[in-house]
Amino acid sequence: MTSSARLLIVGPQGSGKGTQAARIAEALGIPTVSTGDVFRANIQAGTPLGEQVKAITAAGNLVSDELTGQIVRDRLSEADAAGGFLLDGYPRNIQQVGDLDAFLTERGESLDAVIELNVPRDESIARLALRAKEQGRTDDTDEAIAKRLSIYESETAPILDVYRERGIVDTIDGVGSLDEITARITDALSARGISRAATV
Ligand code: ADP
Repeated sequence: MTSSARLLIVGPQGSGKGTQAARIAEALGIPTVSTGDVFRANIQAGTPLGEQVKAITAAGNLVSDELTGQIVRDRLSEADAAGGFLLDGYPRNIQQVGDLDAFLTERGESLDAVIELNVPRDESIARLALRAKEQGRTDDTDEAIAKRLSIYESETAPILDVYRERGIVDTIDGVGSLDEITARITDALSARGISRAATV
């Protein structure tokens, strides 16, 4: 039985990744570490970090690997992440995979599972259009969405191959009700011995 839950969720924009991340983390009793949420909170609060990344995120571009990596390392060094965490939005390219590996290896840790949330492109674009209307995220303009999806395909999707080689990827069908999708993920994790009972 795995006694830790160091997890990563990967999926295209509009896949419902953030929503599922929150549900899974809650079910397992581990914190979610979402780089997108950290940036949005800082932008909203008008912090120096927020000022630094505001224009970059609004255009749908990636923040630098150095800055993002530092934020993640700081967050993972907090006490509540010692027994496990669910990363959402990091790593997002091959360089970041290497940076995270180096950090975790230094701590004698490694990722236990990577959840790949699969959603057809048409479906994710439809969900993003709806979210743009409902939430008004500054990076949900047509241009920024196209940029983010294209970066996802060219830079983020390839990281899955690295993790696939390690045998830790679970590919989950992301079409269905929120509860169905959460159940698919928790079932896949249970099959790896990752469940709340095993992490507490
Ligand atoms: P989405 O997946 O819908 O694009 P996120 O909330 O994950 O949204 O990220 C929002 C923005 O924050 C990204 O477009 C990017 O500018 C920045 N960002 C988030 N994670 C990273 C990362 N790992 N590396 C670089 N930039 C990031």
